[in-house]
This record gives sequence, C-alpha cells and structure tokens, in this order.
Amino acid sequence: MDERAFRTAAADAAGRLTDHWRALASCDLPVVPPGPPGTTLKALPDSAPERGEDLAAILDDTWRTIVPELVHWQHPNFLGYYPTSNSPASVLAELVTAGLGVQGMMWSTSPAATELEQRVCDWLARALDLPARFTHASRQGGGVILDSASSAVLIAVVAGLHRASRGRWREHGTEGRLRVYCTDQANSCVPKAVRVAGAGEPVLVPTVPGAHVMDPAALAERVDADRAAGLVPAAVIATAGTTVTCATDPVPRIGAVCRERGIWLHVDAAYAGSAALCPELREDNTGLELADSYAVNAHKWLRTGTPCDVLWVADRKDLTDALGSTASYLRDNAGDSPEVVDFKDWQIPLGRPMRALKLWYVLRAHGLAELREVIRHDVRLAALLASLVEQEPGFHLVAHRFGLVVFRADTDDRTRELTRRLAEEADVLCTPALVDGRPVLRAALGSPYADETTVRRAWDLVRARAVSAS
Ligand SMILES: *Cc1c(COP(=O)(O)O)cnc(C)c1O
Repeated sequence: MDERAFRTAAADAAGRLTDHWRALASCDLPVVPPGPPGTTLKALPDSAPERGEDLAAILDDTWRTIVPELVHWQHPNFLGYYPTSNSPASVLAELVTAGLGVQGMMWSTSPAATELEQRVCDWLARALDLPARFTHASRQGGGVILDSASSAVLIAVVAGLHRASRGRWREHGTEGRLRVYCTDQANSCVPKAVRVAGAGEPVLVPTVPGAHVMDPAALAERVDADRAAGLVPAAVIATAGTTVTCATDPVPRIGAVCRERGIWLHVDAAYAGSAALCPELREDNTGLELADSYAVNAHKWLRTGTPCDVLWVADRKDLTDALGSTASYLRDNAGDSPEVVDFKDWQIPLGRPMRALKLWYVLRAHGLAELREVIRHDVRLAALLASLVEQEPGFHLVAHRFGLVVFRADTDDRTRELTRRLAEEADVLCTPALVDGRPVLRAALGSPYADETTVRRAWDLVRARAVSAS
C-alpha cells in the first residue's frame, strides 16, 4: 500500500467536497444534469483498465465525468421527493467506517459495532420520545439500523406473518390466508414488501373522505369480515407522514383495532418521524405504545447520509423467531447469552457494515439542540413557501405539513403544463404526484443550504413558468 498516496488523495477528496458544498450553497451548480440519457456511458471506457491508475486521476475523472451528470439532492432548489440528508460528520464517519472494514453480523464478529448500535438506537429513541419499550434498555425491545424504510416494512411484514401463523409461515408460507393491510396512500415499498413476503397484494383499507388517512372503523370492519371468511389478518402498515401529502394515519385508533385482534402494527414514519425531535412537533407519537414496530429514515431529515434507517421493535423475540438463522458457521458461545444481540437476526441479509458510526458521529457533532433547529428551520421555510403559494393567483395549496408543501395550478391542464415546463428548464426540482386523482406538485424542504432567499427565488422560478389564465 502506498501510504502517502492515500493521505494525499483523502485530503484532496475532502477539499473537493468542501468546494462542492460551497458551490451548492451559492447555487453555482445546476440542480439537474444537462446531458441526455447515455451521456455518462459514452464518457466511460468499455472495459476496466488492465493497469492500476492514480487515485488523483480517478478523483479528477469523478469531477469531470460523474459530478456534472448528477442530480444535486443537496441543492437549495432541489425540492423533490423527500430530502436525502448529509453533513460533514456523516461523510467523515463513512470514511472511517470503510477504513475499519469490519462486518457486524453478530456481536462476536465486532462487539463494539453491535453495542454502539444498541446505544445509538436508544439515544435516538429517547431523543424522539418514543415509548421506552422500543429501547434495548428495556431488555425486551430495541432498535436496529437498516438501509431503508423499505427493509423495515419487509421485516415488519415477515414478523407479522410469522407471529399470526404461530411460526407455520416458515414451513407453509401464507397458505393464501394471511393478510396485510394498508391504504392507497402507503409508500410504494409497502405493496412491494407484501408481495416479496409472499402474501400477495395488501388489502387496501378505505381512507377517511378528504383526509387521505386510514379509516379505523373501515379497518375493523374489513379485518373482522376477513376473519369470518377464514382468513388470518397478520399485519397493518400505518404511515406517519405519507409520501404524497405527509398525512398521518390515526395510530391510536388503528392500534386499538390491532391490539384487540392480535395484529402486528408497523408505523412507517420514514420522513415525518424526525420531527418528533422537537417537543412541539411530536403529535405523531400519540398511540405508538400500541405499535409493534416503528421506523424512521435518519437519512431523510437528520443530517445523516443515506443509507440510515432505524427500525425499533417492542419485542425483539418476534424478529429473531421470524428471521433467526443458525447455520453451523454462525454458531458461537456468545449468541446463547441473553445479554447478546446478533443483528443478523434483525434484518434480511446476513452481513452488515458497521452502521452505527455514522449516526453516532452526527448525533455528537451536531447535538440534539442543533438538529432540532434544522427541523424547525425547514418547517419555517415550508410555511413561507405555503404562504407564497396561497398568495399567488392561479395556484392552490393542496397540503402543507412539516417540511412539505403540495400545490397545483387552477386547472389540471395548467398543472400538467407547469410540470412539463419545470422539467424542461430543470433549475428547480419538484415532484409531480396525484392527489384524489388530480395532478399536483410536491416541494419538500431539506437542503442544508436553503434559506428564505433561496425559497423565494425557487418560488419565483416556479411561478414564472405558470401558464397564465388569459
Ligand atoms: C421515503 C419513504 C419510504 C421509502 O424509504 P426508503 O428508505 O427509500 O425505502 C417509505 N415510506 C415513507 C413514508 C417514505 O416517506
């Protein structure tokens, strides 16, 4: 190994990233790349080089060929999807994690990796004021860091199928009888997880008219009818902060339905869960003591780079029963101790990087007080944007909650035309979606470089492309 080359290249990379962040902050980069499909493919050789190249040259090519063709998710005018966050502390932790190169599938394969993860998941649970039963300190529940909210849903579905079938699911699958419930507002990862788990399509529970949230009475009716028909309701996936409008299902009443009937309740709070860092934004925590599992994407709103999702469960045995594996090469003495957590049994894959270092660095480098200010800042900017939408003739505010603003033009054709023009100009990125079958545009705040000035400027770009009523 060439020690000097690594030191130099790492310092060079840190310098380039710092410059990149400054360019984003001053809006010196486009949000969306200019090239048509195939631009990057054309710029790359057909085969890997036979002889090794200098790290400096590879870094050069990264900025010459790759960076110009990226969508810049950290750009102040990136308002699409939900944000994917980042911070220097998170980047540094990724470097150190990669450098240490350990694999933490079991406690015995890297004890500190497992114990740090337990502690950091407990830290975040406390910071979000989650029920104590979700902590490792409770000795019954606990948190695990995964790659995505999608994985958390799949794990919850599998655990729910396993529990509802009293383990028969492992040998016999769903036998066409086990059922999972959500609404049409659930993230697309929910139906996917249900299919992957072999439970077919989820049952879509009707929403409360006009509110885009699950109707708990309709859930109870549907579940009882299914049960009467010989089916086995296994899991309900509720959402706190839906992807399209950031609406939150009535978890206390859904939880009561699930609790009475022994159905697994998972609450997907991928985006909105982070808001609970702020005491005044904690309304979605109500009823969580009735949930079996709960997940938040730290990589959306907590300054932690992707991937970083935290899944908490009330009873870890539910997970290890459903997902545990005991191949001969995975046996160790430590695993038999009740003190020891083997995270391989809390997730789908076997192997796992040391996932906790990133969250640990971020929580320590920023501190909870600063992370609360991050959330409040974005909530204030979204309120500003919502008021600009409301004041604008020819625009309608469709939904506004936390850092999300959903709007449309006064006719569907005008919304579609605006969407087309925004995609063409590509200097501000909003995500089109449908609400009640009508086209809308979503704008989600989250860039670390956004402020009142960038929000006003982004809105000027949007309204400038509006189709005039005349
Ligand atoms: C973003 C989001 C997801 C998907 O998150 P991944 O980590 O990409 O799987 C799921 N559910 C909700 C509510 C989301 O906002």
